[in-house]
Amino acid sequence: MTAAYDENGLFIQGMTGTDELEKFLRARFSEKEIQETYQAMVESAKALARAEKIPPLTAFWRLLDLAYQHKAPPLTCEKGCAHCCHTGVALTRLEWDGVVHLAREKGIDLNAVIERSLKTIERVRQAIRDNKNLDTVDWHRLVINQPCPFLGGDGECTIYEARPLDCRMVVAFRDRCQSKKLEHAQRGVTVEEAVGATVVARLQHDQTPKFKRRKFHGTQPLRLFQHWLITWQEKSRKK
Ligand code: SF4
Repeated sequence: MTAAYDENGLFIQGMTGTDELEKFLRARFSEKEIQETYQAMVESAKALARAEKIPPLTAFWRLLDLAYQHKAPPLTCEKGCAHCCHTGVALTRLEWDGVVHLAREKGIDLNAVIERSLKTIERVRQAIRDNKNLDTVDWHRLVINQPCPFLGGDGECTIYEARPLDCRMVVAFRDRCQSKKLEHAQRGVTVEEAVGATVVARLQHDQTPKFKRRKFHGTQPLRLFQHWLITWQEKSRKK
């Protein structure tokens, strides 16, 4: 099967085809290019973070936005579309910490977020109770077609600045994406995006105290938003 490109050489197959995406990346970028971009992004994010006194992850989001501005055609996503916000988002601990930080700054009550997402929260809670491994259970099905816990009533993201990589990589750049069908989602891939998950994993590794660090394997565990919210609530109750 050939990966589908648009006229700008960007991947447009949709976010469900991970094997196709992998194939696309290997065909489009050399190992050398991938490795060099990864190292440059990690170093640049840390340097920008030091210079601006911001968290390294925030710095990385800025660099990713810049890469997009320079390399991808203008996005056609519009405020209030929210198609991608009904699919299910998985994120690392570092990304989650960034979301909690922003939520605190903006006065977003996470208990209220949980209350309005009870439907999907309870499905995920049950999967955890049943000791289901969320890597093997079809977790996507647990939350599909339901709004993301952080989607505001007006169809806008309430934590936009801190939205995770999953959200940043699903965009429309041809027509306005109005479909509620997952397979119609569009995805643009620059090499900076392609290494994004590994950069985030590295930043998390380097920010973890040395005695807690595990050997770096290039990835960090992902959890659904709902799972992080459940963990957050349990911890807050214990305090
Ligand atoms: S975090 Fe924001 S952008 Fe991402 S799915 Fe949720 S509402 Fe949408």
